[in-house]
Amino acid sequence: MVTIFDELESNVRTYCRRFPAVFVRARGHVLWDQEGRSYIDFLSGAGALNYGHNHPAIKAELLDYLAADGPVHTMDLHTEAKAELLRRIDDIVLRPRGLAYRVQFTGPTGANAIEAALKVARRATGRTNVIAFTNGFHGMSLGALALAGNLGKRAASGVPLDRVTRLPYDGYLGQDADTVDYLEKLLDDPGSGIDPPAAIVLETVQGEGGLNVARPEWLRRVEKVAHDRGIVLIVDDIQAGCGRTGSFFSFEEAGLRPDIVCLAKSISGYGLPLALTLIRPDLDLLGPGEHSGTFRGHNLAFVTASAALGLWSSPQFTADLDKKCLLLAERVRAMTSGIERGRGLLRGLFFAEDAVAAEISLAAFSRGLLLETSGAANQVVKIMPPLIIDDDALHRGMDILDDAVQEVLSKRKAGTR
Ligand SMILES: *Cc1c(COP(=O)(O)O)cnc(C)c1O
Repeated sequence: MVTIFDELESNVRTYCRRFPAVFVRARGHVLWDQEGRSYIDFLSGAGALNYGHNHPAIKAELLDYLAADGPVHTMDLHTEAKAELLRRIDDIVLRPRGLAYRVQFTGPTGANAIEAALKVARRATGRTNVIAFTNGFHGMSLGALALAGNLGKRAASGVPLDRVTRLPYDGYLGQDADTVDYLEKLLDDPGSGIDPPAAIVLETVQGEGGLNVARPEWLRRVEKVAHDRGIVLIVDDIQAGCGRTGSFFSFEEAGLRPDIVCLAKSISGYGLPLALTLIRPDLDLLGPGEHSGTFRGHNLAFVTASAALGLWSSPQFTADLDKKCLLLAERVRAMTSGIERGRGLLRGLFFAEDAVAAEISLAAFSRGLLLETSGAANQVVKIMPPLIIDDDALHRGMDILDDAVQEVLSKRKAGTR
């Protein structure tokens, strides 16, 4: 059957090709399609739905705001909704962690937050070059795409992507090599051919790049190298932040204090577009309008973001999150095939053989579980339940995944495909 999507929607569409259902309803960890089939959601909007679909407490605030005719779009004018969000960011996120940042509201995508961060770092240092890592992903606009490792995504830009020096991420050369040795040597050697960088940009867990995890010691060394040389450290917490790894920021375990932090995806808590660039106060050097954008005043997203941050002040919420992380770790560890990747609720299973991960994702879909693949060659099955999922549903999702893995591997063994 040819659908309206086949007829009219651009060829560039992607997830829907693998999961061709038409969804009509969503709540918590469940999506329902037109036929009334339900799916457990381990895709979580690639990290934009950490609190699940239509979280009731967040939805209530959103509906109240709409019912009262609260302003929806306001450019960057002052609104009560924005004031409340700023207060909560400071009270609930920053001050308890001993962090101080200015909050830049960028255009509402992660890529936009990254572009702002690069601009700030280049302005602050007067340098152009930026260091990014193998398998990193930071968004699809040209500045952000220049930081990406993925060849296919880079090639689509149609222009040279430059002003970036690529270095090996933690583990890229095996667990015995500390790639910071190389970074440090290049930076300190006038013969290395590396232009002094404005910034080092990294993810603590590479969400799109295969769920590679940087060790806390590695992160701390990178931070020191940057700090000692006046290089701005930008942590891209767009996917790994907002509780995805078990703490609000993904760098808390390592105790980092990045100069700039980029947040998007789950910061609105509801799947509404919102992105923030958190900037060390003395680096907040862009003048009025130098990084503008029409949709920087998305008050609905401010309201839902405030409500989502409110959840973090409940000790029960963080205790439940800790438990959920342990439970998923146990389940992933107990899988008999695939190599474990990731941390917190951002986990995966690596399959060296081509296409296995994609076949598992398909088999899971037909059994009522949504999950995607990760990595430049899509070799990792990505397990990303919402943070609020109950234990029972987490088990059911993992049981389905287990069955899907067995089905794919035994079919392959039998050579029936
Ligand atoms: C998704 C993502 C981005 C880009 O965010 P968009 O909203 O798609 O522009 C940047 N960095 C990381 C780590 C991401 O996962």
